[in-house]
Amino acid sequence: MAYKAWFQCINPQCRATYPLNTIIYRCENCSSLLEVTHDMQALADRSSKEWTKLFEERYKSTEWPYGSGVWSKKEWVLPQISDDNIVSLYEGGTNLFWAERFGKMLGMGDLWIKLCGNSHSGSFKDLGMTVLVSQVKQMISEGAPIRAVACASTGDTSAALAVYCAAAGIQSVVLLPKGKISVAQLIQPIANGSLVLSLDTDFDGCMAVVKEITKDETIYLANSMNSLRIEGQKTVGIEICQQFDWKLPDVIIIPGGNLGNVSALGNGLLMMKNLGLVDSLPRLVVAQAERSNPLYRSYLKNFETFEPIQAGKTLASAIQIGNPVSVEKAIRTLKHFNGIVEQATEDELADAAALGDTAGMFCCPHTGVALAALIKLLKEGKIDKSERVVVISTAHGLKFTDFKVRYHEGTLDIPSRFANKPIEVPATVDAVKEALAQALQNRRNTDV
Ligand SMILES: *Cc1c(COP(=O)(O)O)cnc(C)c1O
Ligand SMILES: [Zn+2]
Repeated sequence: MAYKAWFQCINPQCRATYPLNTIIYRCENCSSLLEVTHDMQALADRSSKEWTKLFEERYKSTEWPYGSGVWSKKEWVLPQISDDNIVSLYEGGTNLFWAERFGKMLGMGDLWIKLCGNSHSGSFKDLGMTVLVSQVKQMISEGAPIRAVACASTGDTSAALAVYCAAAGIQSVVLLPKGKISVAQLIQPIANGSLVLSLDTDFDGCMAVVKEITKDETIYLANSMNSLRIEGQKTVGIEICQQFDWKLPDVIIIPGGNLGNVSALGNGLLMMKNLGLVDSLPRLVVAQAERSNPLYRSYLKNFETFEPIQAGKTLASAIQIGNPVSVEKAIRTLKHFNGIVEQATEDELADAAALGDTAGMFCCPHTGVALAALIKLLKEGKIDKSERVVVISTAHGLKFTDFKVRYHEGTLDIPSRFANKPIEVPATVDAVKEALAQALQNRRNTDV
C-alpha cells in the first residue's frame, strides 16, 4: 500500500489541498494555516498490533533512518520522502522518567517527566526540524531554487534549524530578538554557520519580518507556521505512549508559546486513536507564563475570543510570545482533549524549577512553568493526586544556566525560596569542618 500525505487548509469551509513540495505556508484561497494530512485509509491497511510491532522493532535501532524517534514513525510523518534525503541526528527516543521524589513532595505517586531537552540541540525543536529540513533537502534535490531556510526564534528553533542545516549543507538564516535569548542559545546558530540577524525587537517583531522575507520563494520558512514542523513534533505523544507499553497517561502538561507543540501533541494522539492503537485520550494542559498569557486569557472566556497581547518579559524566554501563530490549531486541540490552560508567575515558575532540581531534575524555566501549573492544578483539584501525569520538559537546563545562577545568587527580582548559596570558607581543614557542622545541622532532610 502506498502511503500519502499532503498539505490541507485547516478551515472546514475550505479544505484546499496542496502537494508537500509546494512552497506554501498559508492557504491561497482563505489564508488559513495548513496542516499535513495523511491518507488514513491507506494507513489502516495495518492493524494497530502491526503498527506497534513495527514501531517497537525500530525503536532506537541502528537501521537508518528508523532508529530516530521521529523516523521510526516515518509512514505517519512523511511517507513519501526518500531515505537519501532524510537529515537525522537520531532525535527523539528521549527518557521518560518517574519523578518519584518530586511527585511525593506534591503527594503524587505517578508523576513522569519526558525529557525532550536531552537531544542534539537541547530542545524538543529537533523533532520538528528533522522533518522540515529533510523535506527541504528533497525539494532541492528535485530542483527547487531554495537558497536558504529562515526562521524567527526565541532561541531554540534557531539552534535546531542551524544544526540540521549544517548537517545537510544547507544555508540557514535566523532572526533573533536582540538581548532576549540565552548565551547558550545564541552561540548555537553562530557555531553552526547560520547567518545570524539580531533585531532590536521581540519574537513577534522577528516573526513579522521573517514572514515578509520568505515571500521570496528562494528563502524557505522554518517556523511552525509551516506545518511540516508539527509532523515531527507530533511523535512525542506517540513515543510517550510507546514508553508506557502503549498506554496513555491521564494528563499531559506542556508549556506553550507559539502553540505549535500542543497542536502537534494532539495530532499524534489523535492519529493513534484513529488507527486503533489507543481507545481513550488524555487531558492536555497548556502552561503559560503569566506575563505572556494570551491563550490563558482566551481560556478564561471559554475560547470565545482571542486577543493577541504585547508579551511581557519573562524568565521563560522561549515562550515570551504575545501573538501565537498556531492559536487556532491549539484551541481546536484543547477543545478536543478537554483541555486546561494554566499560568505561572515569575516567582512560581522559578521556584517550581528550583524545587524540581532539588529532587533530581535540572529544569529549564519553561519546564518550571509546567511544574508550577501542575502544583496549582493539584491545589485547585483540577488534577487528582492519583492520576498518571506526564510533564513535557521542553529544553535542557544547561541552556539556561544564567537563569539558575541568578536564582541561586538571589539577583532575580523574586524571593528565590529554594536558593542554595555556596559557602565561602578559608582553605583550612578546621574552617571546612566548622562550616560543614553548621550547614548540615541547618539543613533539613527534605525527604517525605
Ligand atoms: C519553543 C519552545 C516552547 C513552546 O513551544 P510552542 O510550540 O512555541 O508553543 C516551550 N519550551 C521551549 C524550551 C521551547 O523552545
Ligand atoms: Zn483555505
